[in-house]
Amino acid sequence: MVLEKLESTRKRLESTDDLAKLFKQADKSELKPLTYLLSGRISPAFTGIELGVGDKLVEQAISLSSGKTVAEIEKSYRKTGDLGETGRIILEKKTQTTLSSHSLSVKKVFDNFLKLATTSGEGSQEAKVKLLAELLNNSSAVEGKHLIRFATGRLRTNVGEATIIDSFSTAVAGDKSVSKKIERMYNLTSDLGLVAKTLFENGIAAVEETTPIVFSPIRPALAERMPDSAQIIEKIGECIVEGKIDGFRLQIHKKGSEIKIFSRRQEPMTHMFPDLVKALNEQIKEKEVILEGEAIAFDERTCQFLSFQATIQRKRKHGIAEKTLDVPLRLFLFEALYLNGVDLTSEPYEKRRKTLEKIVEEEKNAGGAKTIGLAKAVYAKKPKDIDDFFEECINEGLEGVICKDLKAPYTAGARKFAWIKVKKSYSGSLQDTVDAVVIGYYFGKGKRTEFGFGGLLTAIYSPAERMFKSIARIGTGFNEEQMQFFSDTLSKIKLKGKPDDVDSLVEPDVWVEPKVVVEVVADEITKSPMHTAGKTKAGDGLALRFPRFIKVREDKTPEDATSEDEVLEMFEMQKQR
Ligand code: AMP
Repeated sequence: MVLEKLESTRKRLESTDDLAKLFKQADKSELKPLTYLLSGRISPAFTGIELGVGDKLVEQAISLSSGKTVAEIEKSYRKTGDLGETGRIILEKKTQTTLSSHSLSVKKVFDNFLKLATTSGEGSQEAKVKLLAELLNNSSAVEGKHLIRFATGRLRTNVGEATIIDSFSTAVAGDKSVSKKIERMYNLTSDLGLVAKTLFENGIAAVEETTPIVFSPIRPALAERMPDSAQIIEKIGECIVEGKIDGFRLQIHKKGSEIKIFSRRQEPMTHMFPDLVKALNEQIKEKEVILEGEAIAFDERTCQFLSFQATIQRKRKHGIAEKTLDVPLRLFLFEALYLNGVDLTSEPYEKRRKTLEKIVEEEKNAGGAKTIGLAKAVYAKKPKDIDDFFEECINEGLEGVICKDLKAPYTAGARKFAWIKVKKSYSGSLQDTVDAVVIGYYFGKGKRTEFGFGGLLTAIYSPAERMFKSIARIGTGFNEEQMQFFSDTLSKIKLKGKPDDVDSLVEPDVWVEPKVVVEVVADEITKSPMHTAGKTKAGDGLALRFPRFIKVREDKTPEDATSEDEVLEMFEMQKQR
C-alpha cells in the first residue's frame, strides 16, 4: 500500500515520484478522493466537514471487526501508545484465521469516511462504528493501521501540500516545471481535490485560467518584516500604510444575499457572526464580492478597540446571540479580491484599495457608527510618514502598521514584500513575536502541580524538511485559566515519545503532537547549543531569550507557525538594529 511506503520515507523526491505514478494510474473518479485522503482530510477545510473520530469509536470498530473486547483493545493501546499499531496487531491475528478479504478501493474508503463525517442524530454512533468496522473487515492489518490513523487524524504520510503539488506537476510534465502554476490555483481556491480534477481532466491551461470562486476561500497573503521605516521605503518606495488591527482575520464571500465568512485557516465561521452578516448585507450592495478584513471587539461608548482577549470571546459554538450583544464587533476591511465576475487579485494594490472604498458604504455616506469600515490608511512617501502614522496607530490602541506596496498583486498563500509589518515592540524586546508550536510540556512545581502543568517546550517549523525544531522552553506568562487550558488540551494529544517530525535535543516531561500554536514574545534571539532551530551541522541553534507566552493562535495551523527562515531573518535583523 502506498501509504506504508510514504510513511517510511522522509525523502521528498522519492515520495513525489511515487505519488506522481499513483495519480497517473488513478481512475478519473478517484482523483479528488485520493487527493483529500493523502492530505489527511475528507473534504477541504472550508466545507466544515471534519472526521473527528474519537478513540472510543475506533476501539469499538476494532472490537466489532475482530471479536476482541474493548477492554482487551484498550490494554494493548496502553502498551503501544498508538491505536493504529494496536489495530494492526489485533487485525493481524484475525487475518490468520479468516480468509475473506476483499480489496479496498479508494472510492469505498472515501465514501465510508465521508458518511462517517456527515452522519448525525439518533443511532449515528452505531452507524459510524459499523462504517469503520466494514473498512477494517476488508483491509489487511497494515491497511487497517493506516485507516485507523486516518480516522483519528494521526496519519503520518509525510506528504504535505507542497509535495502533492510537485507530484501533480511531475505527473503531467515529468518534472516540477509547472508546480508554480498549480500552486497558484491551489492558493486561489484552497481545494487540492479540485486542482487535481481540473489538471488531470482539462490540462494545465485550465489550471492557469482559474480565477477566484465565490464561496471557495483564497489562501491569505502574509506580511514580511523589516528593521525600520527607512528600509521599507527603500524596498517598496511610496506605499500605503494601514493600521494593524489585532483581532481575527476574516474573508467574506457574498453572492446576492448569501454570505459566507471564513477564518484565516479557511474554516467556515458564518454562524458565529450574525451581526457581521447583517451589516454586510446592509452596507455592501454589490452582487458578487470577495473581501478581506480584520474583526475586532469595539467599545461603542468609549470608542476604543478592545483587547484580543475580549475579541476572542466571539469565537464560540454556543451562546452566540448573547455574546453578539455583549461584545459587538467592528470589521475593518483591507482587501477587495473579486468583484462581479472580475478577478482583482492580479491588480495592483492601489487599485484594489480604491475599488474597496467604492464597494463599502461607509459612515460618512450613511451617518451613525457603522459595523463595517475600512482599515485606516495613509500614503507614505518618506520614512517619517510611516513613523508618524505608526505613533498615531499605537496611541489609538492598534498593534502597529502594515506597509503595502502600491503596485503589488495579492500574494495569495505567500509571504512577500507586498506587505511589510511593523509592530509595537515591548520594551527591550524583539521587534516581532514568534508563533511557535507546542511540542511538549513540563509538570509544574509548587502551585502548578495542581494543574499538572508548568511550562511549554516549543518549536518553529521548517517547511523544506517538514520538521518542527525546538526554539524555547516557556515557563512564564501563564495565568491559572491558561494553565488549566494547557493541562486539558495537551494531555489529550500526549505521545509516548518524540514524534518523527520533531527535532529536539531538549526533553520535555511529556511529548505532544505538534498541533497547538502559541504567540511568544522574547527579549532577543540568541545562539544556543540546546535548541535545534536554525542549527547548522557544525554550529549552534537559535533560542528565544526570556520567552513569555502571550496567547494561543487558534487561527494558525502548525505549518503556519513562524518558519526557520523567518527566525534566521529576524536574527539577522536584530544584528542590524
Ligand atoms: P502577523 O499575524 O503578525 O504576521 O500579521 C499579519 C496579520 O495582521 C494578518 O494576517 C491580519 O490578520 C492582520 N492585519 C491587521 N490589520 C491588517 C491590515 N490593515 N492589512 C493586512 N493585515 C492586517
